[in-house]
Amino acid sequence: MSHHPTTREACAALDATDPLASFRARFSVPPGPIYLDGNSLGVLPAATPARLAQVIAEEWGAGLIRSWNSTSRGPGWVDLPQRLGDKLAPVIGAAAGTVRVCDSTSINLFKLLAAALAQRPGRTVIVSEADNFPTDLYIAEGLAALLGQQHVLRLVAADDIEAALDEEVAVLLLSHVNYRTGRLHDMAALTAAAHAKGALTLWDLAHSAGALPVQLAEARADFAVGCGYKYLNGGPGAPAFLYVAPSHQAQLAAPLSGWFGHARPFAFEPSYAPAPGVDRLLVGTPPVLSMAALEVGIDLMAEADMYQLRQKSLCMSALFAARIEHEFADVGLRQISPRDDARRGSQVCFAHPQAWPVMQALIARGVVGDVRAPDILRFGFTPLYLSYTQVWDAVTHLAEVLRNREWDAPEFHQKNKVT
Ligand SMILES: *Cc1c(COP(=O)(O)O)cnc(C)c1O
Repeated sequence: MSHHPTTREACAALDATDPLASFRARFSVPPGPIYLDGNSLGVLPAATPARLAQVIAEEWGAGLIRSWNSTSRGPGWVDLPQRLGDKLAPVIGAAAGTVRVCDSTSINLFKLLAAALAQRPGRTVIVSEADNFPTDLYIAEGLAALLGQQHVLRLVAADDIEAALDEEVAVLLLSHVNYRTGRLHDMAALTAAAHAKGALTLWDLAHSAGALPVQLAEARADFAVGCGYKYLNGGPGAPAFLYVAPSHQAQLAAPLSGWFGHARPFAFEPSYAPAPGVDRLLVGTPPVLSMAALEVGIDLMAEADMYQLRQKSLCMSALFAARIEHEFADVGLRQISPRDDARRGSQVCFAHPQAWPVMQALIARGVVGDVRAPDILRFGFTPLYLSYTQVWDAVTHLAEVLRNREWDAPEFHQKNKVT
């Protein structure tokens, strides 16, 4: 495991010299809680409220329809998918003109999986991980049904992916970091293995974009999608993004042939003609207010050094895990995230039979993580606004909740709709 501090004083010393420390003031982090759930909903950037107020009052309120265009008066809303995509591209190791911000992760998955399958006629298998995020599997299942059940999903364990690749496989569909275990796949190695069998790769970056360095171009990934409201801090329900490698752009067919993917949307022609390149994957009118909020989050992330961020993230997850292992081995937590830095995303997770009430009791103490069914406590690390001392204190609270059986109170056993 990564080098990590072993006392609270050492944490404070690291905080004092943290090269990323100045980012914290750029977020509206509420003063009380220790927030270890930025992997589910990122915090509010400090600049977002004023930016949204400006878009609403000036661009919408005063500018009205003129705001769609880029003119002396117009901010160019119509180009938001391209503008945000090109700003995000360097954060995920992609070139300009390969990333677009649009729709939700689920919808982008549908579009790219359908487009990818069409590139591999005669191949009938989609390979994925059995415990991939459910929407990824549901989308694949629904698409296979829509295509007349010519395709089958081959779901395997994380260690068996390479062995599951053969000449029948059309697409390898994987999350770069598993949402439940935090396990990080080797994108370059698995992409090379898929390509060796003639298959394409579609990566879901929901838990890696903005969480660690991603090198889509270097890894030769074919397609990718990802989420705007997690590590990119775009706000609840923020638009998502998609990536298409340059080599696929000319021949790719968009399965949702909407007018924003048309070569000339405002010619209002009666039949569809695809826009050149990745733009053909756009569908309809962009949600301008949500895009404006996401742009602030992307701008912030684009300023951060992803290698510094990764170093801090690994140090935090190692610190958390090591304290549980060495000081609190008695509290009954079983670590399920990889111990090897190279295989761990930006979270640590532990199984505990009372995961739900334990997390509710922990939240009551001001430490916010979340629970993933059936029994997993999940703690996410977002280095732009967390300190080492906060991570240290979070572990102390968790251990006390468990040692004092604080979770064993009736109010902590009630379930919510969103977990
Ligand atoms: C969060 C997440 C999603 C979310 O998809 P939405 O369409 O935004 O609801 C998808 N895939 C993975 C792996 C995720 O972690």
